[in-house]
Amino acid sequence: MSGERSGTHARALAAGRTAASPSPAGAARAARSIEIYDTTLRDGTQGEGVNYTVRDKIAVACRLDDFGVSVIEGGWPGSNARDAAFFDQIRREKLRHAKIAAFGSTIRPGKAASADTGIKALLEAGTAVVTIVAKSWDLHVHEDLRIGLDENLELISKSIAFLKKRVERVILDAEHFFDGYRANRTYALSCLRVARDAGADLLCLCDTRGGSLPGDVTTATLDAATLGAPLGIHCHDDSGLAVANSLAAVEAGACQVQGTINGFGERCGNASLCTLVPNLQIKMGYHCVTPTQLARLTEVSRFCAELANVEIERRLPYVGRAAFAHKGGLHVAAVRKNATTYEHVDPALVGNEQRVLISDLSGRSSVMHKAEQFGIDVAGRQDELAFLLGHLKDLEHSGFQFEGADASFELLMRRNLHPFERFFRLIGFRVTDEKRSEEGRTWCEATVMIEAPDGAVEHTAAEGNGPVNALDRALRKALTKFYPSIKKVQLHDYKVRVLDGSSGTESRVRVLIESGDGEERWGTVGVSHNVVEASWQALVDSVVYHLLRQEEKHGKSGGKKPARAAGGKARGRA
Ligand SMILES: [Zn+2]
Repeated sequence: MSGERSGTHARALAAGRTAASPSPAGAARAARSIEIYDTTLRDGTQGEGVNYTVRDKIAVACRLDDFGVSVIEGGWPGSNARDAAFFDQIRREKLRHAKIAAFGSTIRPGKAASADTGIKALLEAGTAVVTIVAKSWDLHVHEDLRIGLDENLELISKSIAFLKKRVERVILDAEHFFDGYRANRTYALSCLRVARDAGADLLCLCDTRGGSLPGDVTTATLDAATLGAPLGIHCHDDSGLAVANSLAAVEAGACQVQGTINGFGERCGNASLCTLVPNLQIKMGYHCVTPTQLARLTEVSRFCAELANVEIERRLPYVGRAAFAHKGGLHVAAVRKNATTYEHVDPALVGNEQRVLISDLSGRSSVMHKAEQFGIDVAGRQDELAFLLGHLKDLEHSGFQFEGADASFELLMRRNLHPFERFFRLIGFRVTDEKRSEEGRTWCEATVMIEAPDGAVEHTAAEGNGPVNALDRALRKALTKFYPSIKKVQLHDYKVRVLDGSSGTESRVRVLIESGDGEERWGTVGVSHNVVEASWQALVDSVVYHLLRQEEKHGKSGGKKPARAAGGKARGRA
């Protein structure tokens, strides 16, 4: 950060949080647009645990288009059937902004371009953009390709010239460019020069091992810029610097940034577009996407994680669930007066939201804030609030923790301040665990008896792969008849934490459950000496929270609730 920019940023902060309109220093740069090249579907899927089906890939591509990405790299055609199917199907989608790119490598040594199967597959993909990766580090030419340095230059030149005659736009990815530049500057630059001369539309400098520092990137990019061709930057995060290196390259003249949503990618991942784009646009004043598109960033981040079935890192800058979360009582009090005190930008700019975490660090202002957020009127309820605060501290002392369990906290507040009619009443449950031989599997069954909304008694049983799973299934089975929307609720995460660990198996446990219904996610908590009881508490809160939300959205559902069970008290469950 230059002194000038920090000064400007400080002024922006004094005037309020960084807004969508760039700071004065940023305004001077605003003329320059930075092209966003997304490689979530190619480089991103090389990350551990990241897998997309063809349908997922199409869905991700449409979201990226909606977000305003200019180029979507769809995969490596010819390398696998899934990528080939993607290129086939994506042609039928009407994309508004983005062009699709196919990725491949230069011609194999000793082959003519027309006879090279990789090049053939690239053309068959029928994309407007083709990106080819080429060696630009002499070590790789010697050790990996095992050919002479001049022969590699020839391969680059021939590949680009051949493709350029057949494809709208050809991009060169100069693999290991920064390592190559350090080892043999002249050769690394020669690779770029021959690509430019053969007609490449853009030369992308890649920090493939992710080991470079921002200073190195600045020097090498400034040097490459003397070739006069448009430059791109593609960084990996092995040193935790992928975003910083990409920003350095942009300041040195690059006009395209390559990256992935959430930083998915091999090893430590690629430069995260979720950090890169807001930094470029909000902090530095470049134009990448429209403000409306930028406000979809958090949604895009969660969508891509959801489809890949990857648990998203809470502390991701800008888009993480904790990115604008405040816990300490003093912080919360300050943020409620003026959010600028502890937030570097307005979370709404990237579609995220401020969260206040409830914990024993929090005081009256956190609870007031939550009441506001939940739409619970607390005017003139000072006594009840004071009681709730005391009750909250007792619960936390006994092991409850509400930071990951907003839904349980909302129910707790409602039960204390605005009691609601109960949706069902538990008469009893039983869980059986049985193992019939040393080698055999454990067999679990749960039976649940509830009093249904119409006063009838519902008695169900279900098997599960464990006691909690069986209990969850039996409870839903019992309730589905009265509340069909329960079918949509899924358990996304289940965590058990042993409290006061010194007591061994006599310890209390805290169970945290994260549930979702495709639109919203919510967390609930339970605490007990008995893991099944703690799980039951969290399960019931999860279900009740969903039913309350449904009632808010669609009004009361047909069934009549059991009248004598009305008005849950304190931690009275269900
Ligand atoms: Zn890469």
